[in-house]
Amino acid sequence: MPPERHRNTWVAALEQERSTCKLQAFGVLAVVDLADDLVVAASSARHPIATLYPGQKVQDVFGRSAEQMIAGIGRPLGPSPACIGRFTSNDGVDLLLLAQPVREGSQVILEALPVGTMETPETALSDLRWVDEQLGAATDERALLQAVVTETRRLTSFDRVVVHRLLPDGSDVVLAEASNGALPSLQGHQRPAGSLSSALRAELQQCESRFVPDVEYEPQRLITLPNRPDSPPDLSRCLLHAVPQACLDFLHQAGVRGSLSLPILVGGKLWGLINCHHARPLGASYALVEKSRHLASMLGKELGARLEQQVEATKHRVEAARDALLEKIARPDFTERELLLSGSELLEFVPADGIAIICEHKIACLGLTPERADVRRLAHCLGPLLTPRNGLFVTDELATYFPRAASFSEKARGLLAIRVSPAPATTILWFRRSTSSIPQLNGLDPRACYLTDLAISPTSDLDGLSESAPPAGSQAWDPYLVQQANLFQERASFVFQQRHIQALNRQLREANRQLAELAETDPLTGLANRRIFDARLAEEWNRAQRDCRPLSLILIDVDFFKRYNDHYGHPAGDSCLMEVAGAVKASARRAGDLAARIGGEEFALLLPRTTVKSAEMIAERLRRSVLELGIEHADTPGGRVSISLGVASTSPHCSTVVTRGHLVKTADVALYAAKSQGRNQVHVHAL
Ligand code: GH3
Ligand code: MG
Ligand code: MG
Repeated sequence: MPPERHRNTWVAALEQERSTCKLQAFGVLAVVDLADDLVVAASSARHPIATLYPGQKVQDVFGRSAEQMIAGIGRPLGPSPACIGRFTSNDGVDLLLLAQPVREGSQVILEALPVGTMETPETALSDLRWVDEQLGAATDERALLQAVVTETRRLTSFDRVVVHRLLPDGSDVVLAEASNGALPSLQGHQRPAGSLSSALRAELQQCESRFVPDVEYEPQRLITLPNRPDSPPDLSRCLLHAVPQACLDFLHQAGVRGSLSLPILVGGKLWGLINCHHARPLGASYALVEKSRHLASMLGKELGARLEQQVEATKHRVEAARDALLEKIARPDFTERELLLSGSELLEFVPADGIAIICEHKIACLGLTPERADVRRLAHCLGPLLTPRNGLFVTDELATYFPRAASFSEKARGLLAIRVSPAPATTILWFRRSTSSIPQLNGLDPRACYLTDLAISPTSDLDGLSESAPPAGSQAWDPYLVQQANLFQERASFVFQQRHIQALNRQLREANRQLAELAETDPLTGLANRRIFDARLAEEWNRAQRDCRPLSLILIDVDFFKRYNDHYGHPAGDSCLMEVAGAVKASARRAGDLAARIGGEEFALLLPRTTVKSAEMIAERLRRSVLELGIEHADTPGGRVSISLGVASTSPHCSTVVTRGHLVKTADVALYAAKSQGRNQVHVHAL
């Protein structure tokens, strides 16, 4: 079909108002079906460089099909217009052609621009390399964002470039700005939750930029081929797709003529926006869109890397705090009092607004917590939920479990609780206040917004946020922190359990010791009893025989003790016996010596490896020491309590026919002799 025919058909279509879509573009547009290389829709015929009309084949106009042109660039088309080369039309017009795909099907949009409006890929590449270096050199997030706005402005010549941080509560704040002063400064500017429409947010989350070359631009109408009414092209992926009037009005009021919004995605989540504004309409350059898009993606990657570093550092800090706490708890001298004083360390481990540590009847609170009575009641209610198998409880909305908690939800809306020991009952409660009570950004240092509000495992997602109200409940407990708290709970309760078992063992050992003592000692004097005396005598006798060593026995009897009892009473008699026993015990100086009470007022000293001579000396010393106790005994010749002692010893070369019974008997005979010869004396009989 000759060109003239096309123009006529097209003008006729225009008369019939068959426009399907209005687009902002720098050049003229044509929608081409690659399957048959046919132009199915095109911009107004009144454009000065209009070349392509509906019904024409691209091949007929440029001597090459659209498919061939696109194949020439050697890569698939991306979401924004790509320059596919410089071509001369059959009526002799030199044009730059750009192509961008239509979302579905085999259609592309071709845009024809006057030559001389594209920069070379080489300069674009070196620009981006330079920017990459600048971003890498930034020491902190603030410097990084500043580098981004400065470089974006330098590369694109926008009047004002800002970075908006979109916070999880839906509000946003300007964190960095570069401007030439043509537009008012937005540095630190804050907008409440809901300022960003959900439509725009969804669009940005899809990594789509919004480009408005001129707010006052009269969008071109696309006229479709009259005989293809069934194929209105889907231009939703076209970079310059229709911009909502509200957005244009907003920009207009803000004194902005040209605008570009680019999403910054960190770890796949919408972190913020780069907004570029120009006081005058923008020139015909897609390079600035392309470069800015690259910058936004570089920033997203850089922030992502820094976030990862920060997450690692945070994890490290949490784990170090956890280990320090566990180490402290495991110390043998760790007390419950120390745990009650560990609030700040526990808060370093699991950051929260407040903490309560409950140990039996004691409570320690730090930070923002409910009243003590409420904490106690809460701990009581938590009792059945914190089982030995699962000693952790976590919620963002305490009142859904404990309706009474609604009364203190401003202070404590979220709770993370662990039970570290059932006995003594020890529970740790971390509280988080309601997000609605967190002060809004006013007065908040914007530095707090760089990365900090991203959770350790980045779950903060802006998708689900409502337009205006911040989400209910407390800030969500990070799954990583919950996992760490769980680990801490398991290990700490193991330590507490061990300690409990150790304490029980100690008690048991002490009880056993006391029991054994009861069975082996005489309750009045604490000396060994008759049973032990007999057993040790047999033992020592055998050993003395085997080793051919001497063994001595001293039998001791208190003189006139019946009279003492009669005179002073039985209890005084007991005290007297205890004092005499003390003296007997003091005489058993060597490790193997045994002092025993073998009868009412009768004692025995068994002295292994002791010769008769030494035994006699010991006996004599003991006699004197009892006398020196000076216990009054009115009913005796001496006026003081005295003892009589009988000593018997085996010699190293004793005969084997003699038995240990002989030893006792001989000592007894000696004792009897001491008694009968006037008491208060020592008698010795060797075997
Ligand atoms: P002798 O000098 O001959 O040993 O005279 P004695 O009175 O000490 O001897 P005797 O065997 O006649 O009396 C021993 C007394 O010791 C009889 C008993 O009342 C008293 N006695 C025995 N065991 C205890 C005791 O555990 N406490 C008290 N207070 N007295 C006791
Ligand atoms: Mg006696
Ligand atoms: Mg006596």
